[in-house]
Amino acid sequence: MTTETHALFSTRPLDGRVAVITGASSGIGEASAEHLASLGATVAVLARRAERLDELVTRIGKNGGNAVAIAVDVTDAAAVQAAADRVAAELGGADLLFNNAGVMLPAPVEELCVDQWQHQIDLNISGLMNVIGAFTPQLVRAAGERGVADLINTSSSAAQNLCPTFAVYAGTKAFVSHLSKHLRVELGPKSVRVSAIEPGIVGTELQDHVTDAGAKVWLEGSKETVDWLRPDDIAQTVGFIASLPLRVNLPQVFIMPTAQPS
Ligand code: NDP
Repeated sequence: MTTETHALFSTRPLDGRVAVITGASSGIGEASAEHLASLGATVAVLARRAERLDELVTRIGKNGGNAVAIAVDVTDAAAVQAAADRVAAELGGADLLFNNAGVMLPAPVEELCVDQWQHQIDLNISGLMNVIGAFTPQLVRAAGERGVADLINTSSSAAQNLCPTFAVYAGTKAFVSHLSKHLRVELGPKSVRVSAIEPGIVGTELQDHVTDAGAKVWLEGSKETVDWLRPDDIAQTVGFIASLPLRVNLPQVFIMPTAQPS
């Protein structure tokens, strides 16, 4: 077994790495922060709810991990840059970015829920770009110095599938998937691995924010017939991607509940 292959099966393959996780106060981001810390990474956890982040940092610390909470609204570009400056000053810069904060607000397009359209665009596209803008210099620097860095964006199966009433959400996630492919071409030669994870339904707070009656009924029905993914299923996937030998990049991971048709 080579040293690199061995690293994949090590219990702490991310020792010495610094991971930034957005949307870390609940769901997929929270589970990923705990998992990446358990694999040895120092994690900076970002979201708006400071109390939830503090609880997470305490829990990670109790389990022997290293974590720092940074309360930030990712739609505020200046605040995200300040968070990135703090990561550089306190942790020496990020070499793993899990760009994950997002919101899903389905509704029939004819209902003209323009505030919800804007909210999804502001967070899933502009917020995601603010984070990429602030942290990419750190990733490129880390890749130059240590040989590798990871930019992992959370997209959705909605980026590939057709879902009535999910058009705006699906559009924002199609942006994330397509952007990731392009960034891979640009950053791969600089040793930054770029990935998009496209999950089907994962049971999190994401569904709690849905206000549309039809979508709620659909989600409730799906819950009864499909064993939804759990946040830790995605966390394990993020950990796997980041633990691969440095020459290996998984650009796109489509991950579905076994019984979810599309
Ligand atoms: P959650 O609602 O549990 O998590 C969303 C996270 O985003 C929270 O930590 C929230 O924290 C954070 N967030 C929301 N707004 C902001 C903001 N303005 N600034 C900073 N952070 C913010 O849902 P999930 O864990 O499910 O969602 C994570 C990602 O996974 C999203 O991008 C979602 O689209 C994607 N996804 C989810 C699927 C699912 O079925 N659950 C399926 C496919 C993709 P806070 O409120 O404290 O700021």
